[in-house]
Amino acid sequence: MIPIAKPYLTAEEAQAAYDTILTGWITQGPKVAEFEEKFARYTGAKYAVAVSNCTTALHLAMIVAGVKAGDEVICPSMSYVATANSIKYVGAKPVFAEVYPKTYNLDVEDTERKITSRTKAILLVHQIGMPADINAFQRLADKYNLKLIEDAACAAGSAYQGGKIGSHSELVCFSLHPRKVISTGDGGFITTNREDYYQRMKLLRQHGMSVNDRVRHESAKVIFEDHIEVGYNYRMTDIQAAVGIKQLEKLDWIVEERRKIAMQYHEAFRYIDFIRLPTEEEGYFSNYQSYSIYLKDTCPISRNELMQKMLDEGVATRRGIMTAHRETAYKTEYADASLPVSEDAADRSIILPLYVPMSSEDVKKVIETFKSHVLVPVF
Ligand SMILES: *Cc1c(COP(=O)(O)O)cnc(C)c1O
Repeated sequence: MIPIAKPYLTAEEAQAAYDTILTGWITQGPKVAEFEEKFARYTGAKYAVAVSNCTTALHLAMIVAGVKAGDEVICPSMSYVATANSIKYVGAKPVFAEVYPKTYNLDVEDTERKITSRTKAILLVHQIGMPADINAFQRLADKYNLKLIEDAACAAGSAYQGGKIGSHSELVCFSLHPRKVISTGDGGFITTNREDYYQRMKLLRQHGMSVNDRVRHESAKVIFEDHIEVGYNYRMTDIQAAVGIKQLEKLDWIVEERRKIAMQYHEAFRYIDFIRLPTEEEGYFSNYQSYSIYLKDTCPISRNELMQKMLDEGVATRRGIMTAHRETAYKTEYADASLPVSEDAADRSIILPLYVPMSSEDVKKVIETFKSHVLVPVF
């Protein structure tokens, strides 16, 4: 069976975890601090805050951006449901805007149409690793005095206009879940260039505690901590950070390898006219966290049937990105939502296996299996 994804973890990561366990510093210690420094340097952001996952990263970003009950935040419905959930956590309302059919990234004009007097922020998702047009959304945010938050869960290692994702705006949230390009089991980051955001997020991720464990441990004087505001436990452990440091060293290589496989898919499928392949325009650099193909209505096989047939032949696939507004948790509230482009894109796209290392036989098998079901011979 060819799986949809596989984390790239080696004996090096295992050794790093082992060594960290034996040091006795297993959370909020030197490895977390080192990983934060290295992640900030890698992305080009001034600061990086390590947290337990991207969902908690998004929650903290909402809080420091000042999003509150009664506010509205515009985001795509077509995203993993955690995007919309993070807006709900602060009592605000997700307002769903459409995506572009070509990139599945948020449509800037539809976003502008959905701005009201209650809109506080835009939550911009870089869909499955393909950067959205950050500059266009920053301009929109500035014009209406809104906060821009990036959901870059899938986009570690991607770049936009020559800068790594994480360097462009005030709040960028990443995931280190095994389904993403590098992983610490679970884990997340927020990058920021603002010192005030940085300090507050460090506080909030650790119960609002005024002194962190490391400072207290290293102090020659007895220090008593205070809890300055109601915080959370959104910590990353040092064991995870030790693994993450090794993963980060490999990130650019992993991205290059992923891109080679994506290009092989591209070459193999580009002449099939009833499908649409991912496109990377000038200035955009994707890590190909997923390779998603859109099946046009002229495609001779339905998406679900294709998924089953490929699975029967030992190739796992996934449906395209979901839509939040049609999930049970949202569908009553959003019964009137009109998002035809997002629904069509979600219903007609299929994600193919892509991981590192992926043998050329496996790449070939995916290509052949896909082709054998979508290309009906013409006599
Ligand atoms: C995976 C994902 C998340 C959630 O990340 P976790 O680390 O699992 O919390 C959020 N947003 C998007 C777009 C994702 O793909």
